[in-house]
Amino acid sequence: KSNGKNTWSLYDPSRNHSKAMMARMTWRGRIDQALREESLELHFQGIYSTADGELSHVETLVRMRDPADGERLIMPGQFIPVAEKTGQILEIDRWVLRQSIGLLAKHPKLRALAVNISGRSFDEPGLPQYIQDLLQRHDVEPRRLIVELTETAAVSEMQDAQRFIEALHQTGCLIGLDDFGSGFSTFAYLKYLGVQILKIDGMFIRDLPNNRDNQAFVKAMIDVAKGLDKLTVAEFVEDAETLAMLREFGVDMAQGYHLDRPSAELPPQYH
Ligand code: C2E
Ligand code: MG
Ligand code: MG
Ligand code: MG
Repeated sequence: KSNGKNTWSLYDPSRNHSKAMMARMTWRGRIDQALREESLELHFQGIYSTADGELSHVETLVRMRDPADGERLIMPGQFIPVAEKTGQILEIDRWVLRQSIGLLAKHPKLRALAVNISGRSFDEPGLPQYIQDLLQRHDVEPRRLIVELTETAAVSEMQDAQRFIEALHQTGCLIGLDDFGSGFSTFAYLKYLGVQILKIDGMFIRDLPNNRDNQAFVKAMIDVAKGLDKLTVAEFVEDAETLAMLREFGVDMAQGYHLDRPSAELPPQYH
């Protein structure tokens, strides 16, 4: 474009920027704008006890309002991976933490909130202190915050993860390992990670009643969890048959479309 003020003119194709890099730059702008204009939103999905079907706690899931179309929500799969590359994830994670801890203070009947924190945060030594300050400032009991870390991040940066989890543990919050089982090598590391909750990856749950291999994997994961005194959650529970099987296997909690879908509102019992 001839317009010298157009930001696109900065990215002269002759300077050999890859398509992926160009795309990332536009996403970087969108994410910055969303952070500036507070157009990120939290949605909520319940996690239920398999024993009695009672709501145990709630996971927060971030979404972004499309700046070009306010009706449209952009899902985290589209912008979290970019934000992890650009480093903007650190700001997103802090925003989610501020919102979530604020909600815990505002809704005393809400037993706990589970928040997702990126593996990028492992090399952010200030984050556990940031969490502790927020909990103190809002006078929130630390055990009402569950920090979900993905297993792949925890395993690939084992030393950083261990240090980070230890510091997080000191704040008194609970720690969950998300997408458990997808990293394959975690069994061996599990005893070194101070986590209290294992969230079995949805890929093992989705067609559980028809898939004997997955039944074997899930049973093994539950066995290990019980042996190490950790609680288990199954995600992607999409039908009654799967839920019944998980209950029979001894999984503690379940989450998924069969129970409820992520919603812009907290479950009614917490309003
Ligand atoms: P996750 O933490 O494993 O979250 C579970 C994802 O599965 C959510 O997708 C949820 O909407 C979806 N889900 C729930 N029940 C079912 C079901 O029965 N079937 C199927 N097929 N899917 C189900 P969502 O909201 O698109 O989030 C995707 C991922 O993005 C999350 O996976 C998490 O890794 C990441 N994420 C979400 N919110 C945040 C956040 O605030 N911060 C960070 N750092 N990452 C986040
Ligand atoms: Mg999660
Ligand atoms: Mg998960
Ligand atoms: Mg998952």
